Amino acid sequence: MKILKYPHPCLRKKCKELQRIDKAVVDRVAEMFQTMYEARGLGLAAPQVGWDARLFVINANGEKDGEMVFVNPVIVEAEGAVNEEEGCLSVPGINMRVGRAERVRVKAFDLNGRQFELESDGLLAIALQHESDHIDGKLFISKLTRAGKAAIAPRLEELEEQFKAAYPDAPTSCPM
Ligand SMILES: [Zn+2]
Repeated sequence: MKILKYPHPCLRKKCKELQRIDKAVVDRVAEMFQTMYEARGLGLAAPQVGWDARLFVINANGEKDGEMVFVNPVIVEAEGAVNEEEGCLSVPGINMRVGRAERVRVKAFDLNGRQFELESDGLLAIALQHESDHIDGKLFISKLTRAGKAAIAPRLEELEEQFKAAYPDAPTSCPM
């Protein structure tokens, strides 16, 4: 799978709920993990690979047993505040501090269609918020202060140039 980069329009889309978990979905999720590991990321959301679906994967420890899949996730509680450095596979070359809740509780479905709840803090809580933003079409760079946005403007311009070169007839939607 190819990871879409800023400013691909798919990254700005509020994704659709997944209605059905079939083999195609399970296979696609396995491919997402593979793509994420190859890119050395710890989270990857469906729109980042061009898939218009409310789904993301996270692996915070890098081990096989650390694989987590969130289908149609909802953050039901958030409290506290942290300001940690984040990066994003879709916005390469930018690492900036972003304000987030310290603890979150998330409700989601797994690949067996079972609903689960997860309470977390630390790195996982930040990843859950970062990936939840992705399926709402939001990138972490939109949460920066005005000074932060000014600091990354030259890099964003580079990414915009690369995008124009890669897609001469600008795409307007998610490929899948
Ligand atoms: Zn990201």
